[in-house]
Formats: sequence, structure tokens, C-alpha cells
Amino acid sequence: MDQQLQQEGYFGEFGGSFVPPELQEVLHYLSEQFYKFKEDPEFKEELRYYLSEYVGRENPLTYAERLTKAWGGPKIYLKREDLNHTGAHKINNAIGQILLAKRMGAKRIIAETGAGQHGVATATACAMFNMDCVIYMGAEDTRRQALNVFRMELLGATVVPVHNGQGRLKDAVDEALGDLVRNYKNTFYLLGSAVGPHPFPTMVKHFQAIISEESKRQIVEKEGRLPDAVVACTGGGSNAIGAFAHYIDEPGVRLIGVEPDQAPSLTQGVPSMIHGFKCLVLLDEEGQPKKTYSIAAGLDYPGIGPEHSHMKVTGRAEYATVTNEEVLEAFQELSRTEGIIPALESAHAIAYAKKLAPTMGQDQLIIVNLSGRGDKDVEQVYSMLK
Ligand SMILES: *Cc1c(COP(=O)(O)O)cnc(C)c1O
Repeated sequence: MDQQLQQEGYFGEFGGSFVPPELQEVLHYLSEQFYKFKEDPEFKEELRYYLSEYVGRENPLTYAERLTKAWGGPKIYLKREDLNHTGAHKINNAIGQILLAKRMGAKRIIAETGAGQHGVATATACAMFNMDCVIYMGAEDTRRQALNVFRMELLGATVVPVHNGQGRLKDAVDEALGDLVRNYKNTFYLLGSAVGPHPFPTMVKHFQAIISEESKRQIVEKEGRLPDAVVACTGGGSNAIGAFAHYIDEPGVRLIGVEPDQAPSLTQGVPSMIHGFKCLVLLDEEGQPKKTYSIAAGLDYPGIGPEHSHMKVTGRAEYATVTNEEVLEAFQELSRTEGIIPALESAHAIAYAKKLAPTMGQDQLIIVNLSGRGDKDVEQVYSMLK
């Protein structure tokens, strides 16, 4: 069984689980439970119920008619994760994992957060399911994201500022893993993206795959065929892998991940280890994970999910970068032409779609995954533009 689980955690040379033995045991158990419950009819029905009644799925695949006209190329469709409760795709995964935690008998949920978006999604799901919730956050990040700390506290979570190291996301991850090892009997670690040791990348993909399950059905209903390209932004890679999942075995569909030119893990990273798994990582001169900077907090990560790393190497998916200026322009253009203010993360995908459109024909179709809405970013964009 162990051997099999280990194999299942690999995507080519990437993925795996490189953690201390005491944590390995906890992850093996989590793996077993995940594979058991993911096919359980009652579990599936419960997940479907909450995705529908609480998250508000299914969300639309909106034809962006004015944007299509403005760009003069293929038809642009937007998958509307921005319309989910809490305003992004992260809640799909938070609900899925918390239902699993409940089945496993956990009473307490822990998570790490950098900018606070995953912390807020986790705190939301915990409030709904009446679970104790502890969010580890770098002390430096709690100062920069005071409003998100307040949001999590409003939702009933305890936010623990981490002073170790540099007081950033990486230190919060270490603290959360330590907590898990001490408290695994009653505690579930809810990881926010398609990264980390096995089974997290596989599990997060499973819960985010609802995005492409819906979009595939919707595009066939609307156009009678599959799209020519699916475009999504990549931070850790969870919205992208969810948006790609049901098209990976459709060779006619181009899959394109878009990253900030200041955090290009896929376009410039090299195979290395980060946070207990192997992927393409941006390294500095000393061979340490590089400090990245993105105007979109959710894309600010020097690693990337193992399956994306594998699809980059095999060529199944393409990965591109866009600049801050292109992102800011896309943020404004989508607002103006479609009345949709996108998250800065999602604006990366829009910015790249705009460059892609002129290379394609008018009879072709692009789906852009709109991972989240931009309310959270309006103040930041205001100060950048003034
Ligand atoms: C967190 C976040 C992202 C980046 O995370 P992925 O795991 O790469 O999807 C993208 N868009 C939004 C709106 C986010 O909140």
C-alpha cells in the first residue's frame, strides 16, 4: 500500500513526499482516507450539496462579447469562479478538505496563509462547519494584511503570528507542520494550493477539478465543441490545474498557465525541493528558494505544483509570463468592457489571453479562468494608478 501511495504522488520526476518520518505517517493516513472517501457516494453527495447551496455552483461560463469584439479574434469565454461565495476558487478546496476532515473525526483545522486569502477561505468553511480554526501567519504578513487578519477573527478563527525566521509564509508553513505532528489525532491541516507533499497536490486537484468538469459541459452546450485553449494564472497552481483537469486527455485543447514575470517558477525554475516535494523552483545564487515579488499576493510563490512542473517538461501545457503593466491594463480593460473587476491574479490570465487572441482565428474558442473577483485589490490598484 505504501509503495502504491508513494507512486501515486509522482508526476514524472516531480512531486513525492520528503518529510520527517513522524509527518510521513500522518500523511500516509491522510492519503488512505482521501482515496477511501473521494469515491464514497455519501461523501460525494455531501460535497455536491455544499458546493451548490453554500458556494453557489455551478457558476456560469460567460461569453465575453464586448471583449471578443475589442480583440477581434477568437470567442472569449470566462469561467466565473469570481461569483463563488468569498469571491474566488479557494473555497472549492476548503469545503472539500473540511468535509474530509469531518469524516476523519478531526475537531480542529489548521492552515497557513501568506496574504490571507486562503486563511479567509478556511476560516469561512470552519465557521460553517463549527470547527476550531487556527491560522498561522508570518508576523510580518499580519502587519501588512491587518484587514484580512480581522476578517479571519470575525469568522471565529485564531490567527497566530509567527515570529520565527523572517516572519513570512515559509515560517508559517513550518509552524503549521509542527502543530500537525503534535496534534494529528484531532487536527487536520488544510492546505491551500496544489503544492506540498503527497497527497496534497492530488487532493487539491480533485477538489478544484469541478471547474473544468463544469466548463467542459458548458462549452459543449453553448458551442457544440471543446475550446481551442484554456488560460489560467498560476501561483501554486490550484485554479489552473482545476481549470485544466478535464482537458488534459484532450490533445486538441491547448492548456496555458500564466505567471508574473517577477515570479516565473515554470518559465525559469529548475527541478528542486521545496516544502517537502519536488517541483520547478526559482533559486537564488546560493541555491535557496528565491524571494519573489508579485503585485498579486496570490501568485507570490517561488515553487509550483508538481503536475504543472511535469506538464511543462513534457510539453502538454504551455507557460507564459506577463508584466505588471500588462496586468494593470487587463484589470482595467475587463472592468470597462465587461463590467467585471477581476482579481489581480486573474488579470494575469486576461492579459495573456489578449496577446494570444491575435494569433488565433475568429472561429476559435478560448476559455479564461476568472479565478477571483477584484474587490480585494481595488485599493491597491488605486494607489498604483494615482
Ligand atoms: C490564491 C489565488 C490564486 C493563486 O493560487 P493558485 O493555487 O495558483 O490558484 C489565484 N487567483 C486568486 C483569485 C487567488 O485568490
